[in-house]
Amino acid sequence: MSFPELRIPMRYLSTNDPSRRVSLKEAVLDSLPPDHGLYLPERLPVLDAAFWRDWRGMSFEETGVRVAGAFFGGEVPEETLAALTREALSFDAPLVPVTARQQVLELFHGPTLAFKDFGARFMARLMGWLARDDEGGLTVLVATSGDTGGAVAHAFHGVPGIRVVILYPSGKVSGLQEKQLTALGGNISALEVDGTFDDCQRLVKAALLDPGVTACRRLTSANSINIARLVPQTFYYIHGSRQLAEGVEPVFVVPSGNLGNLTAGLLAERMGLRVRHFVAALNRNDAIGPYLAGAPYQPRPSVPTLSNAMDVGAPSNFARLLAICGHDHRAMVSRLRAFTVSDGETLATIREVAASHGYQLDPHGAVGWHAATRWLRDHPDSTTIILETAHPAKFPEVMDRALGPGQVLVPERLARVAAEPKVAQPMSSATPDFLAWLKVTA
Ligand SMILES: *Cc1c(COP(=O)(O)O)cnc(C)c1O
Repeated sequence: MSFPELRIPMRYLSTNDPSRRVSLKEAVLDSLPPDHGLYLPERLPVLDAAFWRDWRGMSFEETGVRVAGAFFGGEVPEETLAALTREALSFDAPLVPVTARQQVLELFHGPTLAFKDFGARFMARLMGWLARDDEGGLTVLVATSGDTGGAVAHAFHGVPGIRVVILYPSGKVSGLQEKQLTALGGNISALEVDGTFDDCQRLVKAALLDPGVTACRRLTSANSINIARLVPQTFYYIHGSRQLAEGVEPVFVVPSGNLGNLTAGLLAERMGLRVRHFVAALNRNDAIGPYLAGAPYQPRPSVPTLSNAMDVGAPSNFARLLAICGHDHRAMVSRLRAFTVSDGETLATIREVAASHGYQLDPHGAVGWHAATRWLRDHPDSTTIILETAHPAKFPEVMDRALGPGQVLVPERLARVAAEPKVAQPMSSATPDFLAWLKVTA
């Protein structure tokens, strides 16, 4: 394997200020540049001809190792990178040909049954390695309103040198989500905050800025827009394509909220993956739709829908998407189409696909399926790959509404979590209480 030019450490720049360049360690451990842009690698890597000659014969792990090498090979030793990539990819992403034209890439086989496991597990291991020599190790603070916290907690569980503190609003996350946050133990502490999600976020911010706390330990927030979460999401675009018949260029249909998954798809294309087109499948929170149709980009307050992980009114990865498209509206339009799907259509799609094909889609995947159907009306010869971003059992209320009570099969690992005891520590929403606790315990 030789990528000689990639042995040079890659620098990362902010989408708001390309003249500011930082190391991988700074980009990953700080998550966000101080100018509130987002980090992107200074060069978008292209995989070489040797990779694209052999890629169809590669395993998921091998694909991941090679792609990770293209981004991080200048900084992380080859064996280390291979080991952490293999650990992060400990479950598969199978492509299910529900129909020949609508194939479903199942991204929910990880510990928290959603695609965010890929990014979070990779980021956790990379952070552990980057902070390996830091005194006192690394403490990761996460404020969560539900899902993200579970993915992050599982991702960091057992990673040496890292301590995780999760703050969640008491009584405001679902019972199952609470179990996913609190049942791990070990290096994961859950704090049940007497307040709202905004209080949790305020406490995290206060700690990150407090000189008294930061003097004694390195803190990070493992934010969802961390560059280390984006790169592993490119692996499954390549792996999904590989599972189609040779020569078929897929249309990727991506249920989207913060636009991270879509950004990863465009990165995979820049690396050399042949993609016919991308489709952004959106619920009513569809800020990018009018933009693609020619209107100025206008973020909006989010509105609640049945596909709630996509209820994002001001998607943060829009800045990365723009940068990857060279800040050129036409370039983005030439690669990307958007469809907006209503809650009624989401429910009807879950019902129809279960009845016609015996396949259960979750609400987010159903938005994707419906968008794919609309794309296929104009392009009937396309093969679509719909990203199924979560397991339907994570959304029992919506599934019961669509299919009738008790129709969804609950995977064993989810049932097991539900039976675990909750271990959380109560915490007030007053900043001094939290800071005092951190100094003593974390
Ligand atoms: C986070 C999430 C999405 C949205 O992904 P983005 O990368 O934010 O666009 C879609 N579906 C599920 C289940 C999610 O958890």
